[in-house]
Amino acid sequence: MSAEPLLTVEGLRAAYGRIEVLRGIDLTVGRGEIVAVIGANGAGKSTMLATISGLLPPSGGRVRFDGREITGRPAEELVRRGLGHVPERRQLFGALTVEDNLLLGAYARRGRRAEREADLARVYALFPILRERRRQPAGTLSGGQGQMLALGRGLMGRPALLLLDEPSVGLAPLIVREIFAAIGALREGGTTILLVEQNARAALRLADRGYVLETGAVALSGAAADLMADPTVQGVYLGQTIAEGEAARDRVAGGASRPPATPR
Ligand code: ATP
Repeated sequence: MSAEPLLTVEGLRAAYGRIEVLRGIDLTVGRGEIVAVIGANGAGKSTMLATISGLLPPSGGRVRFDGREITGRPAEELVRRGLGHVPERRQLFGALTVEDNLLLGAYARRGRRAEREADLARVYALFPILRERRRQPAGTLSGGQGQMLALGRGLMGRPALLLLDEPSVGLAPLIVREIFAAIGALREGGTTILLVEQNARAALRLADRGYVLETGAVALSGAAADLMADPTVQGVYLGQTIAEGEAARDRVAGGASRPPATPR
């Protein structure tokens, strides 16, 4: 990780009315990393992303991005500063064409036309099916194509950091693989990614590091490979029994040089 992480979250708290949903989250994302946050339904993953990206005001804690404090800054400002957020429910404009949906993603940046064309070309290179369908209404796309469009729209803002909320939700396994391959390609292209996922296996396979969120707090964190080898993670999030998880960890421990995942 570089000297200062691209994103630093310290003691982040958020509430809906009187109900506290984030109870002091600490997390970092280094430049060039993919960091996965896994956790059960309702653990607070989406709320955490919304609080970082300025959609929801925090009730406590601090967020630093790219060397500056951004706690509670409005989402439009953060998009201009290079913090993009692709929400879980994709939020596409179904009656607009695929290309118009993409161009809306470039709106906040107010870039020149040549830049927009270059950005469109980049998205179309990543997802050729979107080029084929660029004149079609977004509402006619399949679920996987809709997710590609949501990702592509997030990229049109040229984010340094992309927050991705459950990109695999509702998609068939083959399409999930395609989406995750594209996320890997984004990282190769220099985008840093904070990925929230219920598909823990796919997320940890792709990620450098991971955090396990339980009822609004970090329960476990570490290198993604170590989390995958952790018996509790395997038992609770990867669908294995604890005994299978322990056996797998012992096999990994034989050849691993990394420290174990850090309990918090
Ligand atoms: P999921 O994968 O189901 O989206 P999550 O880990 O992303 O789960 P959140 O969506 O952040 O969890 O929800 C955390 C808690 O906050 C849940 O108990 C949820 O019911 C509650 N919650 C989420 N959004 C709201 C809201 N707008 N108003 C009130 N409570 C909310």
